[in-house]
Amino acid sequence: MMSKKIYKKFDKPVFVNNRNFQKDAPLTQDLLKLQDQIASKFPVNKKNLVNKSSLINKVKCLACNASKSEQLFVKHGFKYVECSNCGHVYVENLLKEDVLLRYYSESHMEELNNQVQKDKKRSLYWDKLYLKYIDLFNNYLGVRRVLDIGTGAGNFLKLCKRKKIDDIYGLDFSAKSKEDVNKIIPKENYIFRVPIKELPKLKIKPFDMITMWGVLEHLSNPLRDFRALNKIIKRKGYCFALFPNLKSKAYEMMGVTTPTISPTEHISFFSMKSLAVLAKKSGFKIEYVFNELPVIDLMYPHCTYSKEFVDEIIKSKKTYYWACLFRKL
Ligand SMILES: [Zn+2]
Repeated sequence: MMSKKIYKKFDKPVFVNNRNFQKDAPLTQDLLKLQDQIASKFPVNKKNLVNKSSLINKVKCLACNASKSEQLFVKHGFKYVECSNCGHVYVENLLKEDVLLRYYSESHMEELNNQVQKDKKRSLYWDKLYLKYIDLFNNYLGVRRVLDIGTGAGNFLKLCKRKKIDDIYGLDFSAKSKEDVNKIIPKENYIFRVPIKELPKLKIKPFDMITMWGVLEHLSNPLRDFRALNKIIKRKGYCFALFPNLKSKAYEMMGVTTPTISPTEHISFFSMKSLAVLAKKSGFKIEYVFNELPVIDLMYPHCTYSKEFVDEIIKSKKTYYWACLFRKL
């Protein structure tokens, strides 16, 4: 049995000097702008909402399926609500998948996304973060066989390989990703354009660990997807997800302009309670929730930066990201 003490050892968030991040990594700004442009292309009704039935589905809570919720705000015609039952925040007028894919294919999003991932300044933070958790997976959890979902340019898998975890698989939808990742892992270990819900059908040998870096917030049916993941993880195996925390200090300071609030991208924000609901309904337990990135670059002009300020953010769990380690029951 893994002791909580070991997780405590990994409790300290990863720090890099990110004060000038936007200036140092201008492609990230371009990506955020493009996301905003795509989101604002959809026609709105008199109430300022994207409401055409050909474009959206009106959904209930993506975690607990309750229908009672309260509106938090509207961005680009998309209504963010908070579930009255479990505190999950989600976009209620959810774009249909085929509609979103059509808009994406008409933009240069895929290419830009790929370029952003290859940005050296950006990688300073992400590589440090990946190495921290690879240490946990490798040296404390005994992880040997990994599937990384949303593997992108393969930055995480590359570091797994360097640290001698070499039974590694990647899944993505992007042709660019396939090209990059085929240089890191054997071709047959790349799972191309298979939706999570279809994974059990592949009859693949179960994994010790499935990782999802910035994927959970994109899923329109996380419960269905976690039930599928459960089927391809070994008994007592793990699933690890890093995702944005909506109720962060950044959100307190910047409200709807917080970069993570991008309605065509991030449609689902977990609370501690909705995470527990997701785990329970899909056959997992939550081992630990780690805090990452207390202060984003855009916050510096609006705060007096100090150790106390950072410590308070961590203590109150208002970091920009949370990383949840789930264990299969
Ligand atoms: Zn709910």
